[in-house]
Amino acid sequence: MAENPSPPFFVSTYSKLPESLFRVAEPKPVSAPKAVLLNDALAATIGISSAWLHSIEALHALAGQQSLPEIPRIAMAYAGHQFGNFVPSLGDGRAVLLGEVSGYDLHLKGSGRTAFSRGGDGRSTLSAMLREYIVSEAMAALGVPTTRSLAVIETGEEIPREKLERGAVLTRVAKSHVRVGTFQYLAARGEEAAMQALVDYESARNFPGAPQGPERFIWFLRQVISRQATLIAKWMCLGFIHGVMNTDNMQVAGETIDYGPCAFMDAFDPQKTFSSIDHTGRYAWDKQPVIALWNLTRLAEALLPLFASETDSAIILAEAELKNFMPQFESAFEKGMAAKLGLAEVKEGDADFIALTLQNMANAKADFTVFFSTLTEAVELESETKILQFFNNPNNAKQWIESWRNRLDNSSLNLMKNANPSFIPRNHRVEEALAAANIDNPKPLHRLLKVLSKPFEKHEGDEELALPPRPDEEVFQTFCGT
Ligand code: AMP
Ligand code: MG
Repeated sequence: MAENPSPPFFVSTYSKLPESLFRVAEPKPVSAPKAVLLNDALAATIGISSAWLHSIEALHALAGQQSLPEIPRIAMAYAGHQFGNFVPSLGDGRAVLLGEVSGYDLHLKGSGRTAFSRGGDGRSTLSAMLREYIVSEAMAALGVPTTRSLAVIETGEEIPREKLERGAVLTRVAKSHVRVGTFQYLAARGEEAAMQALVDYESARNFPGAPQGPERFIWFLRQVISRQATLIAKWMCLGFIHGVMNTDNMQVAGETIDYGPCAFMDAFDPQKTFSSIDHTGRYAWDKQPVIALWNLTRLAEALLPLFASETDSAIILAEAELKNFMPQFESAFEKGMAAKLGLAEVKEGDADFIALTLQNMANAKADFTVFFSTLTEAVELESETKILQFFNNPNNAKQWIESWRNRLDNSSLNLMKNANPSFIPRNHRVEEALAAANIDNPKPLHRLLKVLSKPFEKHEGDEELALPPRPDEEVFQTFCGT
């Protein structure tokens, strides 16, 4: 361990915004901090030295023990529609923004109570924070825009959930933590000047090229819509279900945020949900684009007064942008699915072929990931026999393979290798790793993280981590797991 490695340079630009947007909040000290996971690769990309990350100073800073340089630490204010119901004041109830390093927010999650904690204890379980680390890092390696995880520090304290659980603090790294709900918070309070300041702040950080003048507000909405359209398409092409797409969990810069009950599907079922509280299937796999549009409509509503002084004109402007979401999503989804099938471009008839493929997969309950990795292998080995297992009916299989083969060319294999991972964070493997970590066996966790860091490669000796669950291993439900 280096003696005195230089700490990262923290700044706090968010605390210079209008003060209703945050409350000063110090992370609360914990009894016995212990580093469980430290992400050297991520540290390097944001200019934090490995030596500092492994230092005693970092351990204390990232557990919330020790104050870093003299910048305000804050809990961010936001509102949100939770399962469709508007809550005007939510905010960081168990998280503190430590500051920004190299333009990224460093956020401690599970660091104690804040002004927004309401009845909660402000803490997080080791299991939930390890789960967020595993899944967010897997998403990054899969090429999906996402918040990342720099560290998981155990607190040494037990926290009461259904049973007593080990507590931990996660250091989340994000391009920003501004959410749809942040704008809703200001709109509900009628704070137009603050809303303008927030649009300008977020544009400066994450949306280069903003025009000058009042048209920058509608331009901002357009950018957010585009980023969400491509983000949701990427989720869907991997069988990812976010699980709790409340407006407070939609970050406007377009990174996947808030890893609670999210999960990757095994057997394909378009209506699949995992979350224990999603009784109506609101956030099912195939609902995600519609919900994203619903959330973006809430964003547009919040921003309306900035678009034009007359509400009617503002609505016309907003609607003209919102109507572009679905076509953009569909085009990104089709392009993504086409790549998975090895089709270099989307031609006429391909949208129908993609729909037919998904229909066949659903009928046969094909494993979403294995289906596509088997197609890649079929092209690589020039053998189609293994594909037959994914069809209920051999005639359908023959016809499908015939149409598919006709669309392949010499770019197909490369496209498919980059679009079809072998490894995803399968629920049963994640659960297995968490259970072991909770009895101080970190081996399954490290093994899983290793394959997930290179999900498109082959990992000799770890092939079983690519397999779907056996019936007795299947995980049916996930929890918001605080
Ligand atoms: P989430 O389901 O993680 O998006 O959280 C929804 C809201 O509940 C946010 O305002 C959180 O800050 C708050 N919250 C969740 N868990 C806790 C907790 N243990 N203590 C305090 N607030 C919490
Ligand atoms: Mg949240």
